[in-house]
Amino acid sequence: MPPSPPDRIPLARIVSPRSVAVIGASDDVGKFGGRVIHYLIKHGYGGRLLPINPNRPAIRGLPAFPGIAAAPGPVDVAILAVPVGLLLREIEACAEAGVGACIVITGKLADAGAEGAAIEARAVAAARAAGMRLVGPNCLGIFNVTDGAMLSSSLALEVETVRAGGIGMVSQSGALMGTLVSLGHRHDAGFSRCVSVGNQADLELCDVLEFLIEDAATSVITLYVEGLKDPARFAPLLLRARAAGKPVLCVKAGRSEAGAQAARSHTASLAGSHAAFAALCRDAGAVLLDDPAAMVLAADALDRLPRLPRAGMGVAVVASSGGSTVTTTDMLADYGLRLGEMGAATRAELRRWMPESHVHLPLDTGSFNDGTSEDGLAACIGAFLRDDDIGSVIVPMTTQPAMAARAAMLPPLAREGGRPLLYVMMAGEVGDAARARLRAAEFPFYDHAAQALAVQRALEQEAQGRGRAVLPPPARPPGLALPAALPQGALTEAEAKRLVAAFGIPVTREALATTAGDAVAAAEAIGFPVAMKGVSRAVVHKSDLGLVKLNLADADAVRAAHAALLAAPVPLEGVLVQEMARGAAELILGARHEPGLGPFVLVGSGGIWVEVLRDVQLAPAPLRPEDARAMLRRLAIWPVLAGARGRPALDTEAAAEALVRLSWLAADLGERLVELDLNPILLRAAGEGCIAVDGRATLA
Ligand code: ADP
Ligand code: MG
Repeated sequence: MPPSPPDRIPLARIVSPRSVAVIGASDDVGKFGGRVIHYLIKHGYGGRLLPINPNRPAIRGLPAFPGIAAAPGPVDVAILAVPVGLLLREIEACAEAGVGACIVITGKLADAGAEGAAIEARAVAAARAAGMRLVGPNCLGIFNVTDGAMLSSSLALEVETVRAGGIGMVSQSGALMGTLVSLGHRHDAGFSRCVSVGNQADLELCDVLEFLIEDAATSVITLYVEGLKDPARFAPLLLRARAAGKPVLCVKAGRSEAGAQAARSHTASLAGSHAAFAALCRDAGAVLLDDPAAMVLAADALDRLPRLPRAGMGVAVVASSGGSTVTTTDMLADYGLRLGEMGAATRAELRRWMPESHVHLPLDTGSFNDGTSEDGLAACIGAFLRDDDIGSVIVPMTTQPAMAARAAMLPPLAREGGRPLLYVMMAGEVGDAARARLRAAEFPFYDHAAQALAVQRALEQEAQGRGRAVLPPPARPPGLALPAALPQGALTEAEAKRLVAAFGIPVTREALATTAGDAVAAAEAIGFPVAMKGVSRAVVHKSDLGLVKLNLADADAVRAAHAALLAAPVPLEGVLVQEMARGAAELILGARHEPGLGPFVLVGSGGIWVEVLRDVQLAPAPLRPEDARAMLRRLAIWPVLAGARGRPALDTEAAAEALVRLSWLAADLGERLVELDLNPILLRAAGEGCIAVDGRATLA
């Protein structure tokens, strides 16, 4: 393939084009091309606008051109919403005419099957050959709110104006992007640049993410992800965003089994395992949310409110209603949040306003000595915002006579306190006067407690991400190397153990045998007692089929076990004789290559109850020793490992070391690794190490 010519224009110019051609422009706003030109004009596009339509001399009062070739250049961007059948011809014409980039709204390409995918591939090839970039296809275009260039047919642009602000957005769903901008509009959220990347045939999510990190108008970045085209770029970009002080908030489609299926058929890329994606986001300090609406509201809070001083602080809940403060407080734990614990200075301030019996959180200002007063409210909120254990204040407002005036007090208090204050107007229309006061002060508001709590949880995650130490890349333990010849397909237990042993993970001493005599000789060499297992690649759970014999104390026991194993209902390749290992706890260590995301390792409560307990932690490989320790500490079983209720502490350091070594094996195997389990490894007392007694792997 000949090298592609240099790009005609950078992404920054695609987002802020000096000239835009609208292919299929129309006076009829019922048509795609009609809406695109309508919104460009309506939202004040300031560059050169070139309607392309072979049947009209003028559109919207602008001279129209019969084809892109006839339009006076240079054309930075052409927007196309032509039927699929005409797409290739139009793309080729744009490439020939020297257009910088095409925004392709046309759908039913790679998203619709092989035929569409072939057209899409040809469109990309034609564009690349000319150095022309593509956004989409199957996208809804770009809202460049900062510069007033609305390059889109989205109905979200029906509003009078979209408020300019700091929220940047990249979305793999155009309709969702428009909807989120419209939802944000209801809350006065401000946007910088929103890019719908569609099928990511050329420009992809990570390209736009990179642009937004550099973009001065963007202070916080929101992503709607279905599948990453080049996953290796993603985590490093998240780290770059963090270094730039720009929080990244992300919703990933496909958390549920059903959702994952839909996402796979929805776009041309793989959904990837959600747990793996979540681990990757947490590692890089990004905020992963379930609900796209909460993502926009949280982004707005990060854009317009002060950020939390640090992670792990409590919340103060304050309002003039016992009902709203108590129910909001009841919901805190569901969001992983807690009330703050007031310090002495805060308590002293509260005592000035209310009887000692009411000096606690949540605070019901109805308990003030002379009823709720503005001075008292301001003094108490001010004290909360100075308290060492209170990161933010949530005000769940109910209907009351002075609610608009009370709402108006809050923005200056929050600004002065330098911490987030989340105002919830729980009432419907009667609350509009209060909302209006906050709008006027350019201050966010929420409509119900769950909204504010979801935002608060995201703020907490942002603080956690910001607070994560930026560590040097993991250092490779010495002496690790893949064997020259790797086995393939389903590996036996012995083959899987040999592979991990090459990376320094302790495994049982063992030997393969066929005859009973061989088995006895092997057992004598290893030393009694021994374990014996039937070897079959087809079997996943050996013990379910009676293929595991433990604690064989002498030669007779080995002979009897040999006979019993051979009587099993599956053909065996032989028997595996191994040392009986001892340990006080069983862990599972696993590794897999997540298609589209890279190598991951997991650790969990192991043994035969893994699937039942589901106590596992996942992280991208390779790991640092401190990452491995942190994973172990996040397990539900951690207190038991660490020595709960007077039990001796176990060798969690050895488990962490084994996990690190496994992570390097996963990283080195890369795509060749389908999956690998060591279930269980037995953990001995601290200082005595751990040992893998079972292994299973599939290599591609
Ligand atoms: P399965 O294929 O059923 O997972 P395993 O080899 O893991 O078979 O054996 C089942 C259980 O037997 C393990 O979870 C562990 O508790 C115990 N076990 C297996 N091998 C040994 C061994 N060499 N020493 C001590 N216990 C063992
Ligand atoms: Mg096992």
